[in-house]
Amino acid sequence: MAHTDPPTTVLVTGATGYVAGWLIKLLLDRGHTVHGTVRDPDNAAKRAHLDALAADAPGTLRLFKADLLTAGSFAEAMAGCDVVCHTASPFTTSVADPVRDLVEPAEQGTRNVLAQVDATPSVRRVVVTSSCAAIYGDNADLEQVAGGVFTEADWNTTSSVDHQAYSYSKTAAERAAWAAHAAQDRWSLVTINPSLVLGPGTTHHASSESFKLLTQFGDGTLKMGVPDYGMGIVDVREVAEAHYQAALRPEAEGRHIVSAHNSSFVEVAALLAARYGDRLPIPRRTLPKWLVWLVGPLANKAMTRKVVSRNVGWPFKGDHSKSVQALGLTYRPLAETLADHMDQLIAEGVFGEVKAAA
Ligand code: NAP
Repeated sequence: MAHTDPPTTVLVTGATGYVAGWLIKLLLDRGHTVHGTVRDPDNAAKRAHLDALAADAPGTLRLFKADLLTAGSFAEAMAGCDVVCHTASPFTTSVADPVRDLVEPAEQGTRNVLAQVDATPSVRRVVVTSSCAAIYGDNADLEQVAGGVFTEADWNTTSSVDHQAYSYSKTAAERAAWAAHAAQDRWSLVTINPSLVLGPGTTHHASSESFKLLTQFGDGTLKMGVPDYGMGIVDVREVAEAHYQAALRPEAEGRHIVSAHNSSFVEVAALLAARYGDRLPIPRRTLPKWLVWLVGPLANKAMTRKVVSRNVGWPFKGDHSKSVQALGLTYRPLAETLADHMDQLIAEGVFGEVKAAA
């Protein structure tokens, strides 16, 4: 869809983020005015890539200061906006306090943003970046799902503060969004529910778990092997397009699983080994489940025995057909997503000196 006339003004929360970067680029390239919120607009290093995107595009970018946990802090940024895309939320699996560090910014932050939407008459459409983590908690949940494939009808009922806290935070946030939407009739709500997002960033997004994870496939952290852990994967550029279509298509409604491939750590390792195996210590082995169960919790705090039991050896199966039909998405091959992302990490020197491809 081409941009509207006059171009829509769109607020993007969490403008410095990985997903937000590509969404802002699409909006600016298609002529829109973007109001981005950041926690620290004076941090020149964190905003430099956004300023560069705006310099090359027909659209206009304005950055505002806002924090998810400060009530009312989105007022100035939201004034005059037609659409709000709420992407800001911590995406990390290693936190000291899951309530303070994950659930509160996700859930209370969503309530704060939507309270400001209620107070801003110009806003007609809200797009919330939810997650497949709000659809399901563990791969084993698939056993309880009719048809053996996750769809938008499914909700995560198995995560908690003590088990898969990030997934719990995303579920609580999306439920808070639908509750706020049901309490009024001015603005419509569309959610984008991506699976694991990979692909190059508009800069190096060190805070996103996506960057930390792909780095571990190339820096030797996983050289002993990977667990057979099923997951969906989607390219960040398709996730941005999904937000754009959800923001601008009047008929868009409800939840959307945005997940290109039903994949696994084992498949990611195999695809990376085929391309980078002679240059980087890409994992070559599949670790047996009993070994992951035994040592997983020592290597990674988030890899508890319950997480191992309910995810390793289980496939992920998600149905993305609604995203294709309702948002017009087409998904690129996984090998392309991985190569573009890994090439970016290599070019940035994340793995030190890497010999050129043969
Ligand atoms: P990211 O690069 O770490 O971006 C997260 C953004 O949230 C950052 O801009 C950060 O701002 C902002 N943020 C965090 N806490 C905040 C607070 N208290 N107040 C204001 N802003 C705050 O992560 P991402 O991967 O792009 O994730 C973006 C969204 O996509 C999240 O909602 C995430 O749950 C969702 N998602 C991601 C994936 C994935 O695989 N990456 C998959 C499904 C869903 P600062 O720069 O100020 O820290």
